Amino acid sequence: MAEHVHCLIIGSGPAGYTAAVYAARANLKPVLYTGNQPGGQLTITTDVENYPGYPDGIEGPQMMMHFQKQAERFGTEVRYSMINKVDFKGPVHKVWAEDGTEIHADTVVVSTGASAKWLGIDKEKFFAENGGGVSACAVCDGFFYKGKEVAVVGAGDTAAEEALYLSNLCPKVHMIVRRDEMRASQIMQDRVKKKENIIIHWNSNTKELLGDKEITGIKIQNSKTEEITEIPLSGFFVAIGHKPNTDIFKGWLDMDETGYIITKADSSKTNIDGVFASGDAQDHVYRQAVTAAGTGCMAALDAERYLGEKGIV
Ligand code: NDP
Repeated sequence: MAEHVHCLIIGSGPAGYTAAVYAARANLKPVLYTGNQPGGQLTITTDVENYPGYPDGIEGPQMMMHFQKQAERFGTEVRYSMINKVDFKGPVHKVWAEDGTEIHADTVVVSTGASAKWLGIDKEKFFAENGGGVSACAVCDGFFYKGKEVAVVGAGDTAAEEALYLSNLCPKVHMIVRRDEMRASQIMQDRVKKKENIIIHWNSNTKELLGDKEITGIKIQNSKTEEITEIPLSGFFVAIGHKPNTDIFKGWLDMDETGYIITKADSSKTNIDGVFASGDAQDHVYRQAVTAAGTGCMAALDAERYLGEKGIV
């Protein structure tokens, strides 16, 4: 027997929970599936200083607990599970959870976010999956490298944030930057450059991870001089951006070539009636908690209007 819901929300970052607050307050009785990282990417970040309403900043995990509490306060049902299959053929959208639950949803809000990207070089996956000293989250794993030499690859805000975090734990942090400038915001670049124990390697690409069971060093190559340098280290943090978590929607929802869902201008509407997208799953430009929350709100309002127009609620 399939369960029937008016509004199914997939994902539990700022987009999903904001959609839930709006949908619940509109009496749509939303059901929200958290996915395998409840709270989303903000649960693996340190201080959030740019979300309006928190003048002193707040820790990411705590902020996401606030989001969840607010969504539940109005009656959102939060389920700690994954959605792993969808069928958007009919007017009722069919969705399956990992435990086999089949849900028929009048509206679906996709807010599945994005996940960290990897370099794709030899041993990276092996080390990452076997406690070998490779990670995509300094805040989660940095503590294990206290007192040790580490490297961060990437030059965006995430890489800068991770390098700064690690610089308080580790004697030396190498930042491997592939160009001669950083993409990170000016304030983060300034902070990184001011830290004496962060060494920036410009125009450098990681060529090799050294070690058998655990990483013992890396070989980087300067793209201008072609010089190869070996750096001994115990921890290697990959912070090179994200990939949208949209694989299960392939073939159903229109996407760009990198997998971001395409929404119609000035709305959260996808190519499928009654399916709306919000947050990082459809935004490769802004990717901020506050913009994700904004599009989550849009998705819930669009879902409410859709249900009203169809006479469903
Ligand atoms: P970004 O896409 O902004 O940056 C990715 C970085 O990784 C770039 O410097 C890029 O280099 C580099 N890179 C990509 N692929 C490779 C590769 N194969 N080898 C080496 N380097 C590579 O991702 P972020 O995760 O840093 O940030 C995502 C968004 O989240 C941004 O909008 C950011 O502002 C925001 N953010 C905000 C924070 C805050 O405000 N506290 C904290 C963290 C993120 P290149 O520049 O050459 O393309």
